[in-house]
Amino acid sequence: MRTLSRLELVGETLRAALEELAEAAPAWLTPLIEPDWAKRYGRRVEIGKLPGGKAAVTARAEEFGRDGQKILTAAWAACAPPHLRLLPQVEILRQVWVHHYYWDADGLLRWRDGHALPHASLRFDSPYDTDAHYCVKRDTTWSGYRTHFTETCDEERPELVVHVATTISTVQDIEMTDTIHDELAERHLLPAEHVVDSGYVSPARIERAQRVHGISLLGPVVADHSSQAKAGSGFGKAAFTIDWDHEQAICPRRATSVSWTELRIKENTYLQARFAEADCRSCPDRTRCTSSATRPRSVAVLPRQLHEIQTQNRLDQQTEEWQGRYAIRAGIEATLSQNVRAHGLRRSRYRGLARTHVQHVLTAMACNVARVADWIDTAPRTRRRATHFRTLCSATA
Ligand code: SF4
Repeated sequence: MRTLSRLELVGETLRAALEELAEAAPAWLTPLIEPDWAKRYGRRVEIGKLPGGKAAVTARAEEFGRDGQKILTAAWAACAPPHLRLLPQVEILRQVWVHHYYWDADGLLRWRDGHALPHASLRFDSPYDTDAHYCVKRDTTWSGYRTHFTETCDEERPELVVHVATTISTVQDIEMTDTIHDELAERHLLPAEHVVDSGYVSPARIERAQRVHGISLLGPVVADHSSQAKAGSGFGKAAFTIDWDHEQAICPRRATSVSWTELRIKENTYLQARFAEADCRSCPDRTRCTSSATRPRSVAVLPRQLHEIQTQNRLDQQTEEWQGRYAIRAGIEATLSQNVRAHGLRRSRYRGLARTHVQHVLTAMACNVARVADWIDTAPRTRRRATHFRTLCSATA
């Protein structure tokens, strides 16, 4: 779909509603049309850079706002035919106006500032596909969906995509790990080991994958985010010993925490150990431990089982053995690249989440067919072809 600015979005949303009403109820619409609407909404709304900056954008947006409000007020009037309110584009017009406008104290319709908008997962980016949402992931921004591919990586076999998930773009990767496992289990396709990137891994996901499905989830657990760990010089969480039986933490200076409370951060429960002010105030290592000038150090850790998984994984993922096992994950990048470049994975040919998912499944099937055909067509070979020089050396040896 076309990428629209907010200004274009409201103009195009009103145009789409007028199109629908012109077809469904021309006699009802005709008396509402103002003289300049044919020019304003008679063709698709494209607005370049407006002279006058932000004030001009707001003025134009509020002009669209008043026009749209005229239609909405008329459609929701007691005398209006009820079916008009059920027309899809009229309902989208109503929702887009809620997202982008508000009534001020004087009863005037106003254009919302960017920071006062609803979350991206609630707003629409286009009146023609309301499942597509704006999203940012690292350096990439896009409007649309998010897809997750799972493929086999057996030696001497073609890598085949065995699971495809499509979500709205704002669903985070970590939210899909359990779903992917449950759906693979339904099809009897669970692997013994599932290798994923860091976005899909957390101690809770590793624990559940093992407990519910008996599989090992292999991926890097995020590093300790504490400022001390980031600086690499102070006392990060790993420097503290946790005495689970007595619900205490012991710091590198052998002081013992004096309180132990439960914290809830998003969906996770943490246990926070706080040290005594008297210990920390007089501590010679205070600057290595806390940036606060007055408060004592506190440490938040996951519940015992998850903390142990987290600690063990952070240690394991530093080893060559772990990195060797993890290297196989790079294969999925080739699969994604093939699907993007050869099969147009990043362009949705349809509107809506359900249809886009069908496209993703068909794309994966095409990729599988091509890979199986290649595999049948060629003699089985090792994963990485030896160079001529290496072959020569082996022969010589
Ligand atoms: S500042 Fe407090 S918690 Fe940190 S090392 Fe010193 S006594 Fe221990």
